[in-house]
Amino acid sequence: MKITIVGCWGGYPAPGGATSAYMLEKDDFTLLIDAGSGSLSKLQNMRHVMDLDAVILSHYHHDHVADIGVLQYAWLVQSYIHESNEILPIYGHTEDKEGFKSLTHKKTEGVAYEPSETLETGPFSITFLKTEHPVPCYGMRITDGRTTLVYTADTAFKEEWYEFAKDADFLIADCNFYEDQDGSSAGHMTSKEGAVIADKANVGKLILSHLPQYRDNNDLVKEAEQYFDGSIELAAEGLVWEKS
Ligand code: ZN
Repeated sequence: MKITIVGCWGGYPAPGGATSAYMLEKDDFTLLIDAGSGSLSKLQNMRHVMDLDAVILSHYHHDHVADIGVLQYAWLVQSYIHESNEILPIYGHTEDKEGFKSLTHKKTEGVAYEPSETLETGPFSITFLKTEHPVPCYGMRITDGRTTLVYTADTAFKEEWYEFAKDADFLIADCNFYEDQDGSSAGHMTSKEGAVIADKANVGKLILSHLPQYRDNNDLVKEAEQYFDGSIELAAEGLVWEKS
């Protein structure tokens, strides 16, 4: 499994950056998890847009879906150029009817995931946890049978994450706030909360993402280190981890 950070900012992209988007690859299968603002531009520095095999969305906030529309245009244009009849599946939940409907376009198709069931796409098995967020949002546990990634998407802290993230190799955690802040009403976590989950769940590596655009984000790592002894990294566009 190869994980690439395509976008890591919360709310809006930093200059030259992108909001939430992560690329997961295994064998020849490429899955894009969320498609935030600026992510299509970043993605094209890494892979051809037609290399995508599927997209999955945690929820329909702009900083997670802003580039779905332009991704649909990109697939339309590239399908003409390459004379391709391929349709890109975009998995989303159906608790936002308008949001889900918008996933279907000429060369893309919205496909509903049922959060209580395991979704199989390519080599990946995906289970879901409903997060604490102002709108329906789902975190994901994604495994290829050997390596496991847990993505909290957007969430306030809750103890259910301990079990959901248990022994995962990688945990990408919402870290939109510093330790001295309270993100709970906004539906986000602090550096400390992500680190406590990483510790209790015994994950291999904690990746702090959905980052704030103020103060020094390196402080988020220093704060998290007080609560988790394992490996901690700050997300940045283009960072890659691979584990087989
Ligand atoms: Zn959100």
